[in-house]
Amino acid sequence: MEIEKVKCLIIGSGPAGYTAAIYAGRANLSPVLYAGLQPGGQLTTTTDVENFPGYPEGIGGPELMEDLRKQAERFGADLRYGVATAADLSKAPYKITIDGEKTIEAETLIISTGAAAKYLGLEDEKKYAGMGVSACATCDGFFYRKKTVAVVGGGDTACEEAVYLAGLAAKVYLIVRKPYLRASKIMQERVMQHEKIEVLFEHNAVGLYGESGVEGVHLVQRMGESDEKRYDLAIDGFFLAIGHKPNSDIFKPYLDTDEVGYIVTEPGTPRTKIPGVFAAGDVADPHYRQAITAAGTGCQAAIEAERYLSAKGLL
Ligand code: NDP
Repeated sequence: MEIEKVKCLIIGSGPAGYTAAIYAGRANLSPVLYAGLQPGGQLTTTTDVENFPGYPEGIGGPELMEDLRKQAERFGADLRYGVATAADLSKAPYKITIDGEKTIEAETLIISTGAAAKYLGLEDEKKYAGMGVSACATCDGFFYRKKTVAVVGGGDTACEEAVYLAGLAAKVYLIVRKPYLRASKIMQERVMQHEKIEVLFEHNAVGLYGESGVEGVHLVQRMGESDEKRYDLAIDGFFLAIGHKPNSDIFKPYLDTDEVGYIVTEPGTPRTKIPGVFAAGDVADPHYRQAITAAGTGCQAAIEAERYLSAKGLL
């Protein structure tokens, strides 16, 4: 298998990866970045991004990522297509296999592989993608001011998203498949006491309808029971909040992850338990999951990589 040695390898091309590449490029680390399965990351699936500082009129998700890509390229980052398929972090230099056919030996590794929102798996979720279906209330909630929306899920994310949306929308339905919420007590209370939120326990969303965007959801109450009831509910927006899956599988034998799979880092830093291996962006962030926070940790990771290489005399 072909082997290539690099000082700084970045895996993933979301805001964290590209920002790490900008900083690492400017610090002369000659970074090599592999874009992964979804070049540009999750933002390439959204329409307008209005909360990334520096764009007073907002910017399209794909355009923002294209700008970040060009900025990284300008400072000499070597941007490549390819997916990391295996990892050996047992000792430095760290070995990453790309597409099962090439090995990169890296003195420092920045893991910025992101996370993917989970969907229910309905055909209609794809049909109405960007037309009323979203998996990020903070990103898209603003488009539903004074409208009616539904959030699916009963965990902390769903409750947080429902409360956030209730600050904007006229009415929020929380669609929960069980007869109870799984969220923390405090979030449950906030949801149950909010006058704009109505919790639909023991409900499943089985489809969406609408002419040129979401106009409603097909619901089943007490699915599979003798008193099962099917009905339609008019909504303008359909938000999924049934969890995220961090893309950390190949690193799990070496790094600590939490029960969901998020890589555990030293608090406030992108340092993992392995010196020279850093995790930035959503793969290590169960809490904020924003483009700007991902970019921030990407910057931190590149600065850490530079300091590590410098201390080892590898620059
Ligand atoms: P969780 O896994 O905690 O909750 C997922 C929710 O989605 C559950 O209610 C689950 O239902 C429901 N769900 C899953 N699959 C389906 C499906 N196919 N159809 C319908 N409903 C479904 O995920 P979260 O993202 O909410 O939270 C992840 C972790 O992050 C948790 O540990 C949480 O506490 C933490 N977190 C903490 C926050 C904070 O402290 N501020 C904020 C957000 C998250 P069921 O219960 O039936 O399985």
